[in-house]
Amino acid sequence: MAIELQSLEVVASAPGPRVLLTGGVHGDEWEPMAALRRLHGVLSGRLARGRVRLIPCVNEAAFALGARTAHDGLDLARTCPGNLTGSVTEQTAWALSQQIADCDYYCDLHTGGTRLQVWPLAGYMLHPEPRVLEAQRRMARVFGLPLVWGTDHRLNGRSLSVARDQQIPAIYCEYLGGGGLSEAGVQAYLRGCLNLLADLGMVDQPVVEPPAEQRVVEDPRPSAGHMQINHPTPMAGFFEPRVRLGEWVSRNAVLGEVCDITGRRTETVCARYAGQVIVLHTYARIEADTSVAVVLEEKAAEAAQ
Ligand SMILES: [Zn+2]
Repeated sequence: MAIELQSLEVVASAPGPRVLLTGGVHGDEWEPMAALRRLHGVLSGRLARGRVRLIPCVNEAAFALGARTAHDGLDLARTCPGNLTGSVTEQTAWALSQQIADCDYYCDLHTGGTRLQVWPLAGYMLHPEPRVLEAQRRMARVFGLPLVWGTDHRLNGRSLSVARDQQIPAIYCEYLGGGGLSEAGVQAYLRGCLNLLADLGMVDQPVVEPPAEQRVVEDPRPSAGHMQINHPTPMAGFFEPRVRLGEWVSRNAVLGEVCDITGRRTETVCARYAGQVIVLHTYARIEADTSVAVVLEEKAAEAAQ
């Protein structure tokens, strides 16, 4: 039997865009789940135009484990568009892809999960079609988070890859993580979604323009935006970061130290270039070859404002 995603929906009496908002593509990312449930309550009776479909937890099988992935070990964000008759994650990816095909704008909310913290950002693919790219730039900016990050459009398997292939403007967002539930994160996601809907003319409230200090970076290099391959640890063990999330570091700065359980053997992981720490591994247990941090290069092309 095919997997059916549990969704909430608000339909206005006047026509307008169809928007899809998802959380829980990874099963250990809490703020999106809480924010989308609350947003459903806020929007009911207030949506002026169009349709908003909310899926607070796409990956229920992973959520049941309190883990990023389900028991088949596949990352849902690498499995799209999935397979109707495949494993649980492949089926979930297929069901998600059907939902994406049925919308005009898509926003996929994430966090770093239990092991990582991510500097609040809205990201998008540098779509070759100018109409889609412009819409994505605007969506990411009005979401109102500190960082806006456009990256290589050729990455596959993502929810955004499905939207890309169908020319549907789409963004993803990240907000901290680390295992707890951040009320600030829930509120930021609630505000961001509402402002996005206001900007699309679906909710009657003034659009808040992006904050002046928002950093906009576009980096078309292959694999930019692939967070799992940056600054790997040489050994498994106990990891302690030596930088803070959001901090600007110089080249060769110590990002963190990993040691064995006695502390007799210690290795350091250093920044390969200067930039801002936008992802940090905050879970003390770490496996070998795992990324300890993503540093967004200082000289990465700042997009035209
Ligand atoms: Zn995620």
